[in-house]
Amino acid sequence: MLKSLKKRESDLAKSNRQLEILSNGIFKSGELPTFKKKIAETNQFPLKAKKLEILQINVGYMCNQVCDHCHVDAGPDRKEIMTRETMQQCLNVIKNTGAHTLDLTGGAPEMNPDFRWFVEEAAKAGIKDFIVRSNLTIIRANKKYYDLPEFFKKHNVHVVSSMPHWTRGKTDKQRGNGVFDKSIKALQELNAVGYGMPGSDLRLDLVYNPSGAFLPGDQASMEKDFKKALMEDFSIQFHNLFAITNLPIARFLDFLIASENYEEYMYQLVEAYNPSAVANVMCTNTLSISWDGYLYDCDFNQMLALPVNSKVKHISEYNEELLEGRNIVISQHCYGCTAGAGSSCQGSVA
Ligand code: SF4
Ligand code: SF4
Repeated sequence: MLKSLKKRESDLAKSNRQLEILSNGIFKSGELPTFKKKIAETNQFPLKAKKLEILQINVGYMCNQVCDHCHVDAGPDRKEIMTRETMQQCLNVIKNTGAHTLDLTGGAPEMNPDFRWFVEEAAKAGIKDFIVRSNLTIIRANKKYYDLPEFFKKHNVHVVSSMPHWTRGKTDKQRGNGVFDKSIKALQELNAVGYGMPGSDLRLDLVYNPSGAFLPGDQASMEKDFKKALMEDFSIQFHNLFAITNLPIARFLDFLIASENYEEYMYQLVEAYNPSAVANVMCTNTLSISWDGYLYDCDFNQMLALPVNSKVKHISEYNEELLEGRNIVISQHCYGCTAGAGSSCQGSVA
């Protein structure tokens, strides 16, 4: 199994090295405009946080998979895990915030030993949309996870799962051998308890991201293709497909550099820049919380160790008024959120 960049002691495991790459070369020479310059052309700099709507909590970088494109650099060798104490600090905020969506992510969030306790407690807060980002294979990884579909159902969790393609070859190429078969089995089990069925309140959405150095196609037509193929081949149903652009950070950046596609990919992102996507990028209504409780504008900034530009840095000192209206911290990776129809954890934004 592939190891994380961190375990391999790769230079790219260091966030400052990634930021150097994103700031130098074609951007330093002026061959391509920086993201700051680009959004300033339409008077959108500085990008400002609006009212908080989504709290995204990363409960740890441990994962049972080591996908090629992972922006978290997650894997079984990552030991960063949110403690119950930090979870409790998050719960204090969840109960008092006006955010309508709680989004648990990782790694594989289910691998955090306090995951179930946290879900049970968070579900009591009655937040409108409670998302768990599940990689699907975790449901089949070990007997102790087999009941996850029932557990999700009990707490009315909205399941959002990565599924890069409806074919075995493309899925396994990006996510590892055997991932496709386990994902199909997990989807069938989620369907069996009611997830993803037409008219069901048990929401099951899939996330597509490209397997190479190219941008995703049209979300609506891909959704149709996914629905048709998964139904015909495996009788699987789901609600929506979110098409997400790979951001040039962590293992996807490593892939771009190793395959000599970095500059070409940055050109694609800049050429596909859509100024109308800027107003809706997810950092404008989201706050990302890391496994150790620090605050970031988004999960990508978290991985680049770019903390929020605010006096408030940690969930224990959370203050909605001080965080609202803050300037968002940006760099060239942000072009991944504004290319074409735009991209966020919920798919297209424009
Ligand atoms: S992309 Fe998701 S499933 Fe794959 S290694 Fe990263 S966190 Fe795990
Ligand atoms: S990468 Fe983060 S900070 Fe940059 S535009 Fe996207 S969501 Fe906002």
